Amino acid sequence: MSEHIFSPESQMMSFGYKPELSEGAIKCPIFQTSTFCFKKAEDGKAFFEVAYGKREKNADEELGLIYSRLNNPNLQITENRLCLWDGAEDAAIFESGMGAISSMLMEFTKPGDVVLYSMPVYGGTDHFITKVLPKFGINCIGVTPFEDKAMVMEKLEKSGLKDKISFIYLETPANPTNALVDIGMFREIANELQTEDAPVYIGVDNTYMGPVWQHPLQLGADMVIYSATKYIGGHSDLVAGACLGSAELMKRVKGFRTFMGNMAGPHTGWLLMRSLETLKIRMEKQAQNAEVVAEFLNTHPKVEKVYYLGNLKPEDGRQYEIFKKQCTSNGAMIAFDVKGGEKEAFRFLNSMKLIKLAVSLGSTESLAEHPDTMTHSDVDEHLRKEVSITEKLIRISVGVEDAKDLIWDIGQALDKV
Ligand SMILES: *Cc1c(COP(=O)(O)O)cnc(C)c1O
Repeated sequence: MSEHIFSPESQMMSFGYKPELSEGAIKCPIFQTSTFCFKKAEDGKAFFEVAYGKREKNADEELGLIYSRLNNPNLQITENRLCLWDGAEDAAIFESGMGAISSMLMEFTKPGDVVLYSMPVYGGTDHFITKVLPKFGINCIGVTPFEDKAMVMEKLEKSGLKDKISFIYLETPANPTNALVDIGMFREIANELQTEDAPVYIGVDNTYMGPVWQHPLQLGADMVIYSATKYIGGHSDLVAGACLGSAELMKRVKGFRTFMGNMAGPHTGWLLMRSLETLKIRMEKQAQNAEVVAEFLNTHPKVEKVYYLGNLKPEDGRQYEIFKKQCTSNGAMIAFDVKGGEKEAFRFLNSMKLIKLAVSLGSTESLAEHPDTMTHSDVDEHLRKEVSITEKLIRISVGVEDAKDLIWDIGQALDKV
């Protein structure tokens, strides 16, 4: 008889946790501790040898607990559980999504390198790539979702920096308009650019689809990034990030994290563990609600355009093809242009009674914001207009409320516009 394989959602309550090591407690306790006692000095020596990469772990050897900047059960178990969704070999949890993004980029680039990245990306990521990395001699070239492979290659050729590309950073679907980029296409580009001793790695920010609806590692990426503050945490009560990939690459990421000291603390690890138990059921409900909300917005006379993955049709060409290839859900993020401009958008936002006016996304409660003056206000104005981040754009993260209450709230707020 073949062995039965449990789905990730069935394993979120137990995977990697041994109750017998914690007085039989059904739930993993919070290991609120900075350091761990070694049984004997030889153990401490052996643990450090493995932790500092002086030798490989033996097949039957458990990773020894040393100090909570290096490892802690609340982080390790959460990392192991997170891997199940994406089929990753290992994961590293950070104190924020930006911590994961900045650490990955810094570990895999050096002065003189160039990062190729998709535009738009999350505002903080945009700032890090275009303003912080250049201080370290690392420059960047951005490409929009409208550029195909030939256009990207031509742009690289013209830049004279083609052989300097060492990292490809993608965000798909992109915040806030759900624009998609083709991960497989960038894999082909990376394969053409890289040489035997100079690999070109691809990192994908999968925050918008979460670990449930898109698996970048299976689509050609080397690493996947999450702002775990969003769907993974899911309750607007923590800030965290994650980077997942092969054991080899994660060893480097975790090594960098050890010396940056930007791992998440035990309490955050524990909260994430709690959140992972309901990840799929929350995301499914949020996607169902989003479908209802999008349908309402699609026909509303005060709404000009709706940016929602479920609206993509075969006539949309490449965007539709990429969607079919990469995403298994329409997601729960919607953006829309209200008729008018900032005044009308603000009137809408100020009139909501149930939906909260706040940035962030992926939480149980619905949130709405104005990307042009809030999350994306730091993005170059030219680029903002090119990718439809305008004064009339509103972004909604749909939560788990009763869909008819959301419709009521959006309807009454639009009436005030
Ligand atoms: C929020 C967000 C980030 C940054 O994550 P933090 O946890 O706030 O540091 C990165 N990428 C995307 C797509 C996000 O939405």
